[in-house]
Amino acid sequence: MQETKSELVLPGDFIGTSEEFLPGPGTYEADGSICAANVGIVQVNSKERSVSVLPRTDVPPIPNEGNIVIGRILDLKGSVALVDIACIKGQEDRAIAIPEQGAIHISNVKNAYVKDLSYEFGYQDIVRAKVIDAKTLRLSTDGRDLGVIKAFCSKCTTALKRKGDKLECPKCKHTETRKIAEDYGSGIV
Ligand SMILES: [Zn+2]
Repeated sequence: MQETKSELVLPGDFIGTSEEFLPGPGTYEADGSICAANVGIVQVNSKERSVSVLPRTDVPPIPNEGNIVIGRILDLKGSVALVDIACIKGQEDRAIAIPEQGAIHISNVKNAYVKDLSYEFGYQDIVRAKVIDAKTLRLSTDGRDLGVIKAFCSKCTTALKRKGDKLECPKCKHTETRKIAEDYGSGIV
C-alpha cells in the first residue's frame, strides 16, 4: 500500500520517527527522526513501513495566453459561459494547479453575431477553447478547431450526434445547435 500525502515538505522537515518508519529515498535519519532530504511530497509505504519523499520539481501547469484548454460548461450567465478548465492541451496528463474557472464572453464565441449563448453552449458540454487573457482566464472558441467537442441532450442528457451543422439526440431525436468544433464527436480532445 502506497499512500501519498499531499503536503509539501522542505529539506529538514520532520516526517516521522525511526520507530515508525524506515527511511526511504529522499529522506535521512538523525537522532531517531526521519527528515526530508529534498523538496517533495511524502509517500508512505505501509507494507514496508518505509517513508520517502517524491521530488516535486515541476510545478503543476497554469494556463497561459494562447494555450488551448479543455473544459466543461458549468453555467451560462447572461452574456458569459463559465468553464471549469480540466486540462491544458499537450499537458493532459497533468492536473491543473488549482481548479481553474474560465469564462467565454458572448463576443468571443465565434466570428459572427451571437444573440443567445444557449444556442452555442449547453450545460455540461465539453469545450476546447483558447486562453485570450491568462489573468482573468478569458477564453475564446472563435476558430474552426475550437468550440464544443461533446454535447449532451438538454431533454435526456444522451450524448448528441452531429447531423450536418446541427446536433441530434440518438435517443429522443431532439435537435439542438451548438458552436461546435469541426472535429465534433471524434473523441479527440
Ligand atoms: Zn435526448
